[in-house]
Amino acid sequence: MLFRSDLNCQILSDDSPSFDLSFKIIIVGDQGVGKSCLAIKASRNYFEDFYSPTVGFEFVSFNVRVQDKIIKLQIWDTCGQEVYRSLISSFFRSASLAIIVYSIDTEDSFNNNEKWLNDIKTQSNPDIKIFLIGNKADLEDKRRLTKEQGEQLCRDHKLAFFMETSAKTGFNVQNVFIQVAKELYLQHEEIKNRISRPGTLIMPINEDSNNNVVKLEIEEEEKTKRKKFCCF
Ligand code: GDP
Ligand code: MG
Repeated sequence: MLFRSDLNCQILSDDSPSFDLSFKIIIVGDQGVGKSCLAIKASRNYFEDFYSPTVGFEFVSFNVRVQDKIIKLQIWDTCGQEVYRSLISSFFRSASLAIIVYSIDTEDSFNNNEKWLNDIKTQSNPDIKIFLIGNKADLEDKRRLTKEQGEQLCRDHKLAFFMETSAKTGFNVQNVFIQVAKELYLQHEEIKNRISRPGTLIMPINEDSNNNVVKLEIEEEEKTKRKKFCCF
């Protein structure tokens, strides 16, 4: 069995159009916790102190190499505005992984993690992986939440991963998305293995922008082994 720590992984600087696999990731959390700054820092290595609030949702993407595969991460950065709720819920349905962000200097943002978890669990595909991020770790003097509280919440809800970050200094930002790419790679490998076991039901892991199920690319030899398969 493979683990995240077994995998070689690197964020690619060029946004080349060719990739082997593509996944949608949704970022949720209270307004002002740094969701947009994290997405921008990861994709463009850029931070702005006065970033204007997200309206609706924004989209960034970049490629990560994991082992021999190039994985395109499409990151959907949401806002909490009620008016966009139905639109956002369609992104929940097609996401393979969700990142919940809170800010280590704001207790409310931490308490609302339960609400975000509930939204994800009720609206997403049941196999969705959930990462928890405590952002603004550079604000040590304003800290209201300990790292242990984040770790505990992660354990209590059996989330896939927890880490503190700072979009401002870049602390752990690349690391989070490396873990995201590794997690999705492992999920893909697991599904590939399930496909090669006869009589196995395959759950959805991704959809394209028209909400059509995207068939996983698998090696030619795998295709010939089992002529008919799809992921739904
Ligand atoms: P969003 O509403 O969750 O998308 O939050 P934004 O990304 O728009 O960030 C809200 C505010 O927090 C902005 O003024 C950012 O400059 C600031 N911010 C975001 N991330 C960090 C961080 O890691 N450290 C600090 N000190 N400020 C941050
Ligand atoms: Mg935003």
